[in-house]
Amino acid sequence: MPRPSSRISGIVPSGKDGWEVHSAAWARKQAGEDIIMLSVGDHDFDTPAQTIEACVTAVRASNHHYTPLAGIPRLRKAMAAASTACTGVTTNPDQVIATPGGQAALYAAVQAVLDQGDHAIVVAPYYATYPNTFSAAGADFTVVETPAEDGFQPREADIRAALRPNTRAILINTPNNPTGAVYSRQRLEELAQICREYDLWLLSDEVYWTLGGGEHISPRSLPGMADRTLVINSMSKSHGMTGWRMGWLTGPEEMISLLTSLNLVTTYGLPAFISLACAEALENGYGVKEIAERYAARRTVVLDAMRGMNNVTVRGSEGGMYVMLDISALEPDDEKFAWALLDKKKVGVMPGSSFGEAAAGHIRVSLCQPEAVLLEAALRLRRFASGYR
Ligand code: PLP
Repeated sequence: MPRPSSRISGIVPSGKDGWEVHSAAWARKQAGEDIIMLSVGDHDFDTPAQTIEACVTAVRASNHHYTPLAGIPRLRKAMAAASTACTGVTTNPDQVIATPGGQAALYAAVQAVLDQGDHAIVVAPYYATYPNTFSAAGADFTVVETPAEDGFQPREADIRAALRPNTRAILINTPNNPTGAVYSRQRLEELAQICREYDLWLLSDEVYWTLGGGEHISPRSLPGMADRTLVINSMSKSHGMTGWRMGWLTGPEEMISLLTSLNLVTTYGLPAFISLACAEALENGYGVKEIAERYAARRTVVLDAMRGMNNVTVRGSEGGMYVMLDISALEPDDEKFAWALLDKKKVGVMPGSSFGEAAAGHIRVSLCQPEAVLLEAALRLRRFASGYR
């Protein structure tokens, strides 16, 4: 075949780069082994029944046609209301644009604020797709680690040290994947100060906002930030809709209008019946409370089970769908630990170093299993830790 573009070739294929333990665990489970998979971030339960009904009704009612580029009006209205609740800033429908999932919102945000050769700062540990999303835009980025001892909170001095004359944006994620850290108001205020001082965009990935435990603080609500923040949201986690592929971006009206042109050349609008089901799910909060309560209960179960475990310390782990365990007192090589845990106890977890240096010496445990399975996994981990040599 003729040569593919360097842009497309530069994207590291999914599943490479730190996902080897997960892939092996998955293959062994498929082959019939009793593996507990705690390496993935997808719900173990179905989308709420009311949402499914809404979709079926919409399909039957002939919603089979093209839709407006930024989303159907009812959906944008519902998304705007959700953004008002998420960010604490009154949001109108012209300030939101629907995208096929949070990842597409992230892609759109990066395309919208960075030119080829521009520089961004990415706060780590971060969601696996972030580096590729910048590479796909031809943008350069610096990873700023957050220390585990500090609960994986971003540090102002470290961010300032990473600034360059061509820095245009900072990307953060709170509640965080993989650490479960929820960034404090003070740390967000420090970030906001840097953005105002250097005229930067803040890309704020808030897809886990309903799973935060306490009050969700969006940097969009901080003084002078609404005009320079793009918030990434999604139906995936909050509404139990990972496979439906619906998300949205919230930002200044002028930017949303520009992004509508991006949809012209990418999505050309989203499926009508999925848009209507999502609008109804947002309007009625289908599943949101139950899902949040389920993950909060699971987090408590896992954290309680970890308490007093030999040489294992919990870091971050205040929200989202994951718990981060510091296993460095047992084994500094987290990948070796994860492989051994899979081989000896049949529990699949992600090695922390897959998410950057700061998470080395850690393992990421997903909460996407029923409580009884999580307890069994904790038991296996406890036995493994106490006999670790
Ligand atoms: N952002 C974060 C932090 C995530 O963890 C994920 C998915 O796991 C996404 C964005 C993308 O979510 P989706 O594209 O399913 O909406």
